[in-house]
Amino acid sequence: MDYNTIIEPFRIHTVQAIDLPDLEAREAALERAGNNLFGLHADEVIIDLLTDSGTGAMSSEQWAGMMRGDETYAGSRSFFRFEEAVQNITGFDHVIPTHQGRAAEKILFSVAVKDGDVVPNNTHFDTTRANVEYQGAEARDIVIPGGTDPATILPFKGNMDIGALRETIAEVGVENVPLVMITVTNNSGGGQPVSMANLREARDVCDEYGIPFFLDACRFAENAWFIKTREDGYADSTPMEIAQEMFSYADGATMSAKKDGLGNIGGFLALNNSTWAQEARNLLILTEGFPTYGGLAGYDLEALAVGLMEVLDENYLRYRIRSTEYLAETVLAGGMPIVQPPGGHAVYLDAAALLPHVPPHQYPAQSLAIELYRAGGVRGVEIGTVMFGRRDPDGGPDEPAAMELVRLAIPRRTYTQSHIDYVAEVVIDVASRAEELGGYEIVEQAPWLRHFTARLKRL
Ligand SMILES: *Cc1c(COP(=O)(O)O)cnc(C)c1O
Repeated sequence: MDYNTIIEPFRIHTVQAIDLPDLEAREAALERAGNNLFGLHADEVIIDLLTDSGTGAMSSEQWAGMMRGDETYAGSRSFFRFEEAVQNITGFDHVIPTHQGRAAEKILFSVAVKDGDVVPNNTHFDTTRANVEYQGAEARDIVIPGGTDPATILPFKGNMDIGALRETIAEVGVENVPLVMITVTNNSGGGQPVSMANLREARDVCDEYGIPFFLDACRFAENAWFIKTREDGYADSTPMEIAQEMFSYADGATMSAKKDGLGNIGGFLALNNSTWAQEARNLLILTEGFPTYGGLAGYDLEALAVGLMEVLDENYLRYRIRSTEYLAETVLAGGMPIVQPPGGHAVYLDAAALLPHVPPHQYPAQSLAIELYRAGGVRGVEIGTVMFGRRDPDGGPDEPAAMELVRLAIPRRTYTQSHIDYVAEVVIDVASRAEELGGYEIVEQAPWLRHFTARLKRL
């Protein structure tokens, strides 16, 4: 068949109602939530693009798997099915289930990272950064030049700057670099992919210095699709073969299975180092649970074992990446500046370019996110100075983040074309009224991960 329309490669089996709160209700909700979109209730949101994490629809095969869930405390059958799926894709010796990605990070960094260390990453995700810093170490972002410039179009804009990796190791000393991490795709840098060549180069540097190399693998399947469609030599490989090669360069990975695990909850730490794995399992027992369930139910492990295979289906990945690109093209044509090219799981609106009259310490991306919700009930998330800016200890303006973005993350297999068309209409309307949007100030904040709970006031 040779038609151009790429359809959702599934039909709907169960539906869930969406509430349609009016403008007055949305304004009241903003007031109550202190202009923090994390404080909204689900029934106050029309289209929820806050995150693609755990918000996807599971397939009938996953639900069927859940009925097979084995709730045996130690040695559950579901664990072995989960372990087999993870090992099939990653090839790692040890598979440690966790309740989500950040638990895997906390355990890995507790085992591997000490006070004063430096962990290089293309760009740390917020929980990854917080978990590195919690150990007293520095989380250093070394994405390639252009990787933080929204307008630069590159096929693999998430690549690590390998020169900067060498410089970092030389500067801080190899003994202070406990591991190198690459995030695929680069979520905080715009959902941008990392090339196979870049993974290979990072591996070579790590081999030269004897440093372990880990992937933050949350969107490994989307990254594999970009390699297939953009990197020479991979057009005829399957997403599974590409994923296997990606993991073959690493010594381990942390994973949030709420992303490319197609699950509503779950994650894992997988690695080859037996000593670290033993210590990680000891910590797991302390906070997550016995090593064959790690904070998950047997039925969760079963759903993930199926999801990890479904996510590598070519029809799914083609539709997934195209539907994100379609939203990006539509809003860009309608006057909204975005990070180019669009990433895999989300469209990132460039608030700094849209709102040059709002300085970073008045949170332009937060202002844009608030207006998208107020105008159309569309919830995105600020990835700018509220999330990543540094507070001035003397009460001066925050040190600004590298970019001022609003991420519209697309839940997997959840919304249809008309939902996406509605979102585009709201975004284009707000872009046309950019000069009406003003700045905000923070009136209440927590010492870390402040974006989850801060309250803001319009200036
Ligand atoms: C979501 C995410 C995490 C953390 O995973 P959780 O399941 O939310 O704890 C870590 N890294 C990246 C790149 C992510 O997108």
